[in-house]
Amino acid sequence: TAKIIDGKEIAAKKRVEIAKEVLKLKETGITPGLAVILVGNNHASRTYVNNKQKACQDLGMHSLLIEFPETVSEGELLSKINELNNDQSIHGILVQLPIPKHINEKKVIESINPVKDVDGFHPINIGRMMTGQDSFLPCTPYGIMVLLEETGVSVSGKNVVVVGRSNIVGKPVGQLLLNQNATVTYCHSKTKDLLLHTTQADILVAAVGIPNFIKADHIKEGAVVIDVGINRDETGKLCGDVSFADVSEKAGFITPVPKGVGPMTITMLMFNTVKSAKNAGSI
Ligand code: NAD
Repeated sequence: TAKIIDGKEIAAKKRVEIAKEVLKLKETGITPGLAVILVGNNHASRTYVNNKQKACQDLGMHSLLIEFPETVSEGELLSKINELNNDQSIHGILVQLPIPKHINEKKVIESINPVKDVDGFHPINIGRMMTGQDSFLPCTPYGIMVLLEETGVSVSGKNVVVVGRSNIVGKPVGQLLLNQNATVTYCHSKTKDLLLHTTQADILVAAVGIPNFIKADHIKEGAVVIDVGINRDETGKLCGDVSFADVSEKAGFITPVPKGVGPMTITMLMFNTVKSAKNAGSI
């Protein structure tokens, strides 16, 4: 049976390191600051935003929550981002997605100064990541890389299959794995024979958004299985994209849901904000 990759424990360890960095920065007169913009009243978004704020407080960082009603205009949002771009107490700016349809999401993301884009969604940061330059790495993919590192399994030369090609998870995690010399295959909703690919994977990343989609038949004996999904099953229970009960019998390593990838996402957001504050301090 598979070893469990304990995301909660790994995240806690990482946060101890981050807290030390925060203390060091504070001694030089810099308190890392994160501004989170929340538009409308999406319940899940509010929970995520609260968790991000709490993480900041726990680490002794400055956090600023800016709330707008659903009816906010694109202009108002852009002018707030511009203000935050010029605010020296803010090192990271994050717009919680999704935002209402009348606002151009691309335009909003591109209005964030790339040096404060701690979500790593700005095309400049994505381009820098693709070309292997220093950048802010998107938090969930970055968290997955940290989890993999903790297993001690080397990525170099491995067959990696990423199921899902979203801009925030699938695509960037494949790129980060490629940067570390994995042989990467992307599968998605139009893939013809999913099993043909997934059964070859030494490392499988599932970012599909379908409850318990990946079964034991999909995987190779001993594979490392990373489950990004956050879903509800038919009984309303939180579950991943991987059918944990049967896959954990066959895999070598597996992340659980909850307490797998989830805790790493916010941790890497904190990491990026501290990194930005350090950059600001060295200018
Ligand atoms: P998305 O809906 O944007 O993308 C889903 C991807 O799955 C698409 O690229 C699609 O092509 C692919 N897909 C859909 N049906 C498929 C099929 N039958 N076979 C193969 N591929 C198929 O989702 P996302 O934003 O990448 O999120 C994926 C999951 O991860 C969701 O459950 C989401 O809640 C979760 N998530 C978790 C975190 C975290 O912090 N742990 C962060 C982001 C997303």
